[in-house]
Amino acid sequence: MPDIRPARVSGALVLNATYEPLCVVSVRRATILVLTSKAVCVADGDGILHSAMNELPVPSVVRLTRYVRVPYRTHIGLSRRGIFARDGWRCAYCRGPAETIDHVMPRSRGGRHAWENVVAACARCNHTKGDKTPAELGWRLHASPIAPKGVAWRVLGHRTPDPRWADWLDLPIDGVAQAA
Ligand SMILES: [Zn+2]
Repeated sequence: MPDIRPARVSGALVLNATYEPLCVVSVRRATILVLTSKAVCVADGDGILHSAMNELPVPSVVRLTRYVRVPYRTHIGLSRRGIFARDGWRCAYCRGPAETIDHVMPRSRGGRHAWENVVAACARCNHTKGDKTPAELGWRLHASPIAPKGVAWRVLGHRTPDPRWADWLDLPIDGVAQAA
């Protein structure tokens, strides 16, 4: 087993044999895929991995040698970090830094816990809003909340992408980079 101690690497992007992005795995997992010939390294990351047998650049992007059929998850799971990433860490009401999640139609009044009804909000707006709707307060949402979609979201979720992955993901880099 290689001794894997990457300095600042959080993961490696895995591409299908067709170069279609599939997921992000740990550098350790990506290295094992390469060492077992299940994948080839397409882009190197930073640093070198040392094992008893050899030295290997840290993989940043690997491509599977055999095509795997993946059932598509078209629905992106709702998560707290995902909501912050979608909304750019800004309050949906005042555009200040967001630190809470607000249900636009309050849950106490039947509002759903779903992408379309949750927004990032600052503590002040969230507290002021309480169990009222934006309309009742004369507030306007900066943008209608919608479920995120697209290959980058499917593969990355709330992760901050390595710039080396941009070519493979068609990244709206600005939108995703705000997640940093
Ligand atoms: Zn606010």
